[in-house]
Amino acid sequence: MPQSSVLTSVELLVYLDHHATTPCDPRVVEAMLPYFGEHFGNPASLTHEHGRRAASAVEDGRIAVARFFGVQPNEIVFTAGATESNNIALHQMKEGDHLVTSPIEHSSVVRPAQGRDATFVAVDGEGFVDLEAVRAAIRPNTRLVSIEAANGEIGTLQRIAEIGAICRERGVLFHSDITQAAGKVPLDLANVDLASFSGHKLYGPKGIGGLFVRRGVRIDPLISGGGQERGLRSGTVNVPGVVGLAAAFRLRAAEMAEEAVRLAKLRDDLRDKILENVDGASVNGPRALRLPGNLNVSFERVEADSLMISMRRFSLSSGSACASGERAPSRVLTAIGVPEALAMGSIRIGLGKSNTAEQLSMFVDDLKRSIRKLREISAA
Ligand code: PMP
Repeated sequence: MPQSSVLTSVELLVYLDHHATTPCDPRVVEAMLPYFGEHFGNPASLTHEHGRRAASAVEDGRIAVARFFGVQPNEIVFTAGATESNNIALHQMKEGDHLVTSPIEHSSVVRPAQGRDATFVAVDGEGFVDLEAVRAAIRPNTRLVSIEAANGEIGTLQRIAEIGAICRERGVLFHSDITQAAGKVPLDLANVDLASFSGHKLYGPKGIGGLFVRRGVRIDPLISGGGQERGLRSGTVNVPGVVGLAAAFRLRAAEMAEEAVRLAKLRDDLRDKILENVDGASVNGPRALRLPGNLNVSFERVEADSLMISMRRFSLSSGSACASGERAPSRVLTAIGVPEALAMGSIRIGLGKSNTAEQLSMFVDDLKRSIRKLREISAA
């Protein structure tokens, strides 16, 4: 039977790509619905009740997000997501300014950093930024240090409190892309000046996120216009998005700690089973200080793209990226020293709320079968 006919129903699919995005929690959707209809007002229209209701929903949302991070509501600016927030942070770099960042940042930090005077501090074999390297890279004209809180491919949790302390000591602005960590692990923003986050990574909606801007930090907006969000981000605020983002954060505050324990256990069991059952498998990324739902594994003598086709009942992502039509090894895996051939045989597994031990046991069975078959084909 051709494989395509096997996948007749979406229920048979198992989602293992929670770093790419997460499903919007039905409780979040429910909270948002009235703001598409009944409460449709423009939150900047303060001359009437329709507008004031929308404005009050946005301010309630701001309070909820701020409370989640233990910061003040007026330190939260709503944006269309982390790409925009990261671009705002990098936009603070002016002519002659120097940037310190890492080679494993998201492309929405790396791309705007291109063409600038930037130092990419090396990371070690587990993806950790060396604190002394950050200290040594800071120069008199360094304006910004941008280091993510968690890596979306290999799960490394950076020591952002310590990096922030170095920046503070040297009087340099510290931005952290906390998109993969927010709502997954506790975060300490005490030494962070700017932090980017996104709703769809924490069971909230897509197209909404924010930037934490510490009180007293002056930023130059990227988008100008009507002066919404205290002039820091013009454009009519996405009211249903803000309501959904706030609902998602409230739920994460209640559920995150327990889920982190469950996911870390599922992930560790899965890692052990893969290593026991598949030869030539190796784990990329750290053993400790790692996002609970993250696993990244390389398989010798297998192409990740073929593996994902063979296992297409499971939604996975690979350690490669498509650069102008050519497959290229992931720059994150390259930066931690994974050889090209192994990087091309790497998959990222991102566990989340819906995943169960039963699904992962089916996954391991399918993985063993698929790898055996692919190696037979390539040896033939
Ligand atoms: N930063 C990181 C670390 C991410 O994983 C992502 C999403 N892949 C982004 C930024 C971009 O987020 P958004 O989709 O909200 O633009």
